[in-house]
Amino acid sequence: MNAKNQIQRQETLRQKLHTRGSQLTSQRAAVYDYLSGVKHHPTAEEVFLAVKPKLPRISLATVYKNLETLVKCGAVSKLAYGDASARYDIRTDHHYHTRCLGCGKIWDLDVQEGSELLSHIRPQAGFEVKDYRLELLGYCRECRR
Ligand SMILES: [Zn+2]
Ligand SMILES: [Zn+2]
Repeated sequence: MNAKNQIQRQETLRQKLHTRGSQLTSQRAAVYDYLSGVKHHPTAEEVFLAVKPKLPRISLATVYKNLETLVKCGAVSKLAYGDASARYDIRTDHHYHTRCLGCGKIWDLDVQEGSELLSHIRPQAGFEVKDYRLELLGYCRECRR
């Protein structure tokens, strides 16, 4: 990530936060930067462990609050799976995921066929489709060892 991109990203984030009456703090910037740089979608605890070296005074509760603020202003999406810890995704567009049944990690799945697939599926009569999700479940490389 080059510096110019980072400044642009921060400016977009600042504007999004502003629409919800929130400020861009160094903590929120650090949380957002971490989410932008990882390939998978981490839990609040993973984010906490990653930003703590840079921000030694930050707590898990604060990281959690900052993540929720980012979700509320539409900068980050939250993936909830029953009782498992929620995970946070820097992408807010419609996209798909692969999920590991071993470690619980979630990655983006890049396929173009999603909407085409949907046109072959017929729900029961009277059911109006508003949204859909495609998720592949399995075991990641680390968990298959
Ligand atoms: Zn795994
Ligand atoms: Zn994603």
